[in-house]
Parts: sequence; C-alpha cells; structure tokens
Amino acid sequence: MIDTAISSMLLENKEHFLIPASKVASVQEDNSLTHAFLVLTKVRYSKIPVLGEDDQFKGLLSMPMITETMLGMDKLNVDKLDDLCVADVMQQDVVTVQNPYDVEEVMHLLVDDPFLPVVDDRGEFTGIVTRKEWMKSLNFLVHNLDKEYELVAKHALNH
Ligand code: AMP
Repeated sequence: MIDTAISSMLLENKEHFLIPASKVASVQEDNSLTHAFLVLTKVRYSKIPVLGEDDQFKGLLSMPMITETMLGMDKLNVDKLDDLCVADVMQQDVVTVQNPYDVEEVMHLLVDDPFLPVVDDRGEFTGIVTRKEWMKSLNFLVHNLDKEYELVAKHALNH
C-alpha cells in the first residue's frame, strides 16, 4: 500500500501524465512495413503503438521487428517490406492500463517498460504514460516531502 500523503504528492504533476493519443506517433496494423519503417525513422522513438479499426489498441512496433524480416544470408532484402504489414511482425502481448493515475499499478509496471499504452474499457487507445513523467514526479517527491511533512524516524520515537 502506498501512503496517501505520498501518492497525493506524486499526483501533483498528474496533468502531465497522460500523453493523449492525438500527440502519440502510431501506425495502423494494415500499414506496409515500408510505411512503418519510414515512420519509425522519422519519429525516432524506439517503439510506437499499433492501432486497428476505430483506434483499437493492437500492439507495439519497433525497428528491430521490421529489420529482422530483411535479414538474408549476407545482405539485406528490402523487397519484403512491401509484402508484409505491421500486424505480421508487431508485439501483441502488451500490458496496458486503463487508469494512468493508478499510482500503485503504474509505478509497478513502469519498472519494466519505458511507457505504457492507456486504453479505455472498449479497448480504444487513449494515450501513453511514460516513465519520464513519473520520474519527474518522484524527483519532486524526494526533494519536497520534508518541506510538506515532518519526518520522524520510527526508531527515534521509541526512545
Ligand atoms: P520518453 O518519455 O520521451 O523518453 O519516451 C519513452 C518512450 O515512450 C519512447 O521511446 C517511445 O517509445 C514512447 N513515446 C514517448 N512519446 C511518444 C510519442 N509522442 N509518440 C510515440 N511514442 C512515444
């Protein structure tokens, strides 16, 4: 259980937590790998969300998932990129969250992933929460907790 004083301080930065879908670079699951290759090169993010019809969240795509398909014996074969689509190579087993402000759940999951896709109860992609924004909140917490609260070591109270 996270102390309520701690979680309320972590949530002071809450309006920055959710990067809305409209600001997130993404590809469609039926896009060709050539298109996805160009998008990933341009946006420079290592992994981006994959969306399906009606903005349903489908998975994540990274450059290695694409370049893996180009590997030949001793050269790269780019022709494959027009034959395959994003759905053929994307990562499907992705952990998502519905509530980007659930301190307990989000902090736990961001240990393993630099960002988490946020979906609503119908599976529609609503945005992402990033480790970067949570680190900013943690930074704020560790620097300001003693300014807002009196911290007394429990072992000192016993003497
Ligand atoms: P950052 O918090 O900016 O370091 O981003 C961490 C990761 O989250 C990036 O490597 C991307 O995979 C993803 N990400 C962050 N912002 C965006 C965005 N606007 N569009 C797509 N992916 C993003």
